[in-house]
Amino acid sequence: MRSALGGPRLLLRRLREVMAEPVSPQARLDKIVIHIAANMVAEVCSVYVLRADNRLELYATEGLNREAVHLTTMRATEGLVGLIATSAEPLALADAQSHPAFSYKPETGEEIYHSFLGVPILRGGNTLGVLVVQNRARRIYTDEEVEALQTTAMLLAEMIASGDLQAIALPGDETALRRPVAVKGSAIADGIGLGHVVLHEPRVVIKQIVAEDAKTESRRLEDAVQALRDEIDTLIARGDRLGAGEHREVLETVRVFANDRGWMRRLTEAIQTGLTAEAAVERVQNDARAKLQRQTDPYLRERLHDLDDLANRLLHKLTGADYVVAREILPDNAILVARSMGPAALLDYPRSKLRGLVLEQGGASSHVAIVARAIGIPAVGDVANITDFVETGDAIIVDGSTGDIQVRPGHDVEAAYAEKARLRARRQEQYIRLRDVPAVTRDGVKIKMHMNAGLIIDTQHFAETGAESIGLFRTELQFMLAARFPRAGEQEALYRAVLEAVPDRPVTFRTLDIGSDKVLPYMAKVDEENPALGWRAIRIGLDRPGLLRQQLRAMLKAGAGRELRIMFPMVATIKEFEAAREVAMHEVSWLKKHGYSTPEPLKLGVMVEVPSLLWELGAICARADFLSVGSNDLIQYLFAADRDNKRVASRFDPLSPPALRALRAIAEAGGLTGTPVTLCGEMGGKPLDALALAAIGYRSLSMSATSIGPVKATLLSANLKEIAEFLAPMIDQGDDRQPLREQLRAFAEARGVQL
Ligand code: PEP
Ligand code: MG
Repeated sequence: MRSALGGPRLLLRRLREVMAEPVSPQARLDKIVIHIAANMVAEVCSVYVLRADNRLELYATEGLNREAVHLTTMRATEGLVGLIATSAEPLALADAQSHPAFSYKPETGEEIYHSFLGVPILRGGNTLGVLVVQNRARRIYTDEEVEALQTTAMLLAEMIASGDLQAIALPGDETALRRPVAVKGSAIADGIGLGHVVLHEPRVVIKQIVAEDAKTESRRLEDAVQALRDEIDTLIARGDRLGAGEHREVLETVRVFANDRGWMRRLTEAIQTGLTAEAAVERVQNDARAKLQRQTDPYLRERLHDLDDLANRLLHKLTGADYVVAREILPDNAILVARSMGPAALLDYPRSKLRGLVLEQGGASSHVAIVARAIGIPAVGDVANITDFVETGDAIIVDGSTGDIQVRPGHDVEAAYAEKARLRARRQEQYIRLRDVPAVTRDGVKIKMHMNAGLIIDTQHFAETGAESIGLFRTELQFMLAARFPRAGEQEALYRAVLEAVPDRPVTFRTLDIGSDKVLPYMAKVDEENPALGWRAIRIGLDRPGLLRQQLRAMLKAGAGRELRIMFPMVATIKEFEAAREVAMHEVSWLKKHGYSTPEPLKLGVMVEVPSLLWELGAICARADFLSVGSNDLIQYLFAADRDNKRVASRFDPLSPPALRALRAIAEAGGLTGTPVTLCGEMGGKPLDALALAAIGYRSLSMSATSIGPVKATLLSANLKEIAEFLAPMIDQGDDRQPLREQLRAFAEARGVQL
């Protein structure tokens, strides 16, 4: 079967002329279908557009009844057109009516057409509509014709994406591209942000789809691919990472794709159909996305990201577009949307313009999440395919407390969130007023409030919180952000900077807690079956005493002449603590011998986060200067449930008799021996949990900066004796009729406790 009137290239040229004509969008669409039908020698050519309500609407036709335009609609899963929309793949049939999915629409008059070729109108792997040609005669469409129609569909995708067709949509029947979308991810940093999307890796907008000359385009493509290969080779050879947190492994995969012959062949073929080099890249990538997106195998889906990365880099090379967002064009209420992002990349943005962060990959324990919390922007992670259905400039709302994302929200949704944000702001004002008020309960019990930190930027918040000290400084975080292992001098400078940021208050440094989920990108990864139960924290410190010594010496030097508190993570036995203390005391002697002054007083403590210590509490209290309860790990090990695994998170609750009994035993042991006990896990920062902890004997809690205000407000409004008397029998007897959490909440609320 020949393609009449000069084939796809001529068709594309004609269509480009039509695109440039100053006519209405409907007239343009009508002309386009006439040209396609003529060029492909088809009696029918129709365009169906996917609407926000997930129906496909006939927007233009040559050959079917014109009256059916804007009247004929079908569900996105209905008929052959629906099949193409959902499968995102072309469909060519010699006898359409015998296909099981065929559905007959009498108003269109299509019953006399036998053969059928339809292709999806795709953008970013999403279906925006379907383009169809039909013939009376039973005929087989050639691969070239399928290709040509797919190429033409790209023009229509641009028309839809540009919002051109929105003008001819009936009110309430908006195209799918602009519809409001509500999605949910995992909450990673608290707060509510209303603003506009800024894609962290801006998508290249292709202005030129139709080429003047295929030879020139082929040359452009070859040059760009060569330049890209060279660039990737250089990056890999340099062995470091770019600002965006790219790692060698990703680059290696991209390199494999960049040298793939099949990929090059497909690009060259797309150029032969009349596309520019950049349009060919988009075309081939659209096909790959459509195929890979339906894969359920996570490995294959991951490869899609690598391919996307490659296509994106190539598009930037071809169009000369910037690879990063120009800081000058950042709106004042930017909400960053990214597939993934490294912590350093987030810190590169001006904080004053950021209102939120949304990530496809990255949960609450990712490094970028830690930074988002430290700089105080609401963030949500694990949001599937978000970069595919937002455009830079779209209105978006991020609710970092629930994980909800609203894209292009309606007025009512926006108003509801604006109100929620106002309420939060009012509460924040209350917390600021409480800054210098000590956390004393209504019946006169004082609870000391401390702040958790891990980055030097965290210390900026110290003064705002009114905290008594930094109760936990997680030293590994700064190590996780660094490009290589920090040298002794750098470590000392960091610890000194932390101490100087809180000049007259103590800081409790924790030695490196690496291993398991806390991986240093520059350290060889140890393969273990159960990393959470493996070689981590103090275990590494004691097996590699050089590392521990170096860190302790840096801390001791930085803290010379003032109070310094150091604690050791994941201690499981008394012997481990004694060994760690010996290393520390050895460093103190060494420093003294060499004329250095040392901290005064120096307190050495233990993190209680491995359950074995629960049965050594007397012995550990006798040896340690203080205890700090790591409830995150203690609870994970008590219940044998991974703290980051969403699937098992709801199976247990720290506010339950067994956990509270364990926690109470630690507080009691501290009280009996006069050993100070602080709790520094996440539960200390949750108002209801903190109330329960105070009721079972905790007088010192360390939490994130943003939790201090809410927890203080709760404690100030509570009568602790009343709460303790209510809780004690439930903890002792283990009441399982109703969850303890719910009972405690109801009891506290009824007594006017602010929660
Ligand atoms: C804990 O385990 O509760 C804790 C405070 O330490 P991390 O969360 O750093 O493991
Ligand atoms: Mg821990």
